[in-house]
Amino acid sequence: MRSLFEFSTDASGKAIATCPLFWDCECDGEDYIHPVTADECPVCKARREEQPDSRVNEVMYHADKLPPGLVGIMESMLEDTGEPIPF
Ligand SMILES: [Zn+2]
Repeated sequence: MRSLFEFSTDASGKAIATCPLFWDCECDGEDYIHPVTADECPVCKARREEQPDSRVNEVMYHADKLPPGLVGIMESMLEDTGEPIPF
């Protein structure tokens, strides 16, 4: 199974992995990660297609507030991928 994760580095050269099942909106604080099933943030009105994918480690950190089905898919993809996920 091909990995859906995208691997890159941030501005400081740190390795990051992002997951296309979630995206970040413009909100500060805790509620900036949205499932791909949501098209728009009800608070800041950011739209999914204009926003970046969420980082895997941040999705895991907020997993208790996200849809368990999507988090489960991401976790099984994490197990299937042979590549190391940077946290
Ligand atoms: Zn928002």
